[in-house]
Amino acid sequence: MEASRLLSRRGFVAGMGATAALVALGGFGLTGCTPSKAASESPAESEDYDAVIVGTGGAGLSAAIAAYDRGLTNIVILEKMAVNGGNTNYSSSGMNASETTFQKDQGIEDSNDAFAAETLEGGHDTGDPELVQFMCDNSAGAIDWLDGLGIKLDNITMTGGMSTKRCHRPTDGSAVGLTLVPGLMAAVEERGIPVKMSCEAKELLKDGDAVVGIAVDDKGKAKNLNARAVILATGGLGANQDMVTKYRPDLAGYVTTNQPGATGDGYVMAENAGAELIQMDQIQIHPTVEQETSTLVAEGVRGGGAILVNTEGNRFFDEMSTRDKVSAAELEQPGGFAWCVFDQQVYDANKAISKYDDAGIVQQGASVAELASAIGVDAAALADTIAAYNAITTDGAADEFGRTEGCIAFVDGNMYAIKVAPGIHHAMGGIRINTKNEALDASGNPIPGLYAAGEVTGGIHGNNRIGGNAVCDIEVFGKNVGEVVAEALA
Ligand code: ADP
Repeated sequence: MEASRLLSRRGFVAGMGATAALVALGGFGLTGCTPSKAASESPAESEDYDAVIVGTGGAGLSAAIAAYDRGLTNIVILEKMAVNGGNTNYSSSGMNASETTFQKDQGIEDSNDAFAAETLEGGHDTGDPELVQFMCDNSAGAIDWLDGLGIKLDNITMTGGMSTKRCHRPTDGSAVGLTLVPGLMAAVEERGIPVKMSCEAKELLKDGDAVVGIAVDDKGKAKNLNARAVILATGGLGANQDMVTKYRPDLAGYVTTNQPGATGDGYVMAENAGAELIQMDQIQIHPTVEQETSTLVAEGVRGGGAILVNTEGNRFFDEMSTRDKVSAAELEQPGGFAWCVFDQQVYDANKAISKYDDAGIVQQGASVAELASAIGVDAAALADTIAAYNAITTDGAADEFGRTEGCIAFVDGNMYAIKVAPGIHHAMGGIRINTKNEALDASGNPIPGLYAAGEVTGGIHGNNRIGGNAVCDIEVFGKNVGEVVAEALA
């Protein structure tokens, strides 16, 4: 983007009326940027802050809390939707972390280096080793920090691609997002940090190379929020089909697990301000998405013992392998889908399943034969498949598909199945940052005043994200960016 089209705060405030400014913004191609009538008629107001944080997902809320607790109190959080929490609300697996107090208490041996090595390996060595090591080294601290905020994640399980139990969930095993977002929001409210809902960030304001604020549409009113630092925590792009197919034409037509506000605005704003976007074609598809409701069936379901079978009633892959491989294997099955099959033990151990049941996506039978009939799969084949799977766990026989994790034998009784196929899940690429969460240009130089954290950034996951690592990413780097900015502005 040519420099002349960038808004500078001085130019914006001094020479540009709201209408002209918003016309210019419309030209940037942000989704949903059409100015409302009210916005186009009212003059741009301005407000002054030390820092503006864009996004109320885990990254943005954590950044605000951490900044505030380090003494940076003149801050505001923006959320373009009417509900807060973003995709973090949907986080189901948990938060991977190593060398935590909870692991130690439960006798789980782990190391930050092993966590980092497995994260890089899971991403086929395309992640940034420095960012990954930083994330893993600071993961236990983030678990303790959350605990201090009243968010206890002490129920620990496995996710695909990890060699040990390091996925931290709420005590009752429920989906992490639904504990995290209300917990962080309570901490934000307790501190009196203002949150502007239905306030859409449109464009970064610049003064020379530096970011000096952000232009917003605040419930239809154009405003310039002047700030010494802007933290972009705007999440991903999964709900913006045009942007998804711009970077990955092969993903046209895929359903998405993302909330409607995940439209990639942060990438556009950052790029327009000079930041480099990296690995944007690395958009993760998740193997277990129910297609009618776009419901993500949590990885913990497979980690707790569920298997994937095709329409012939046969298993076809190691269910605990990485998401890219499991997704690819599913697409090769007849019809390009699978049944995620599990027993009452798995049902009872995963709180999320009763929610799936309420949504009407769980098929059920009082026996294997009844379930087979309910899902139109050959009963004898399904019974043989389950018997063979049970043998892995009971007599130590090696699995023909190489599964070694979460092999828990089915017990007779109620059986369940959810029809799943891959769906667009997570933007693994994004704004290039360093371990201070500074947004970097293509030469690796920080853009003064611009920071980013969470899904909007790139480099942590490489070309394959491990389940449980997104929450670690948003918490470690969300907390970090708040602290870094508070320190920088002190
Ligand atoms: P993360 O996991 O990185 O915290 P989330 O998806 O949970 O990301 O949260 C990002 C939040 O940012 C969402 O609530 C989303 O609606 C919000 N958001 C995205 N773009 C904008 C924007 N232009 N202005 C304000 N909020 C935005």
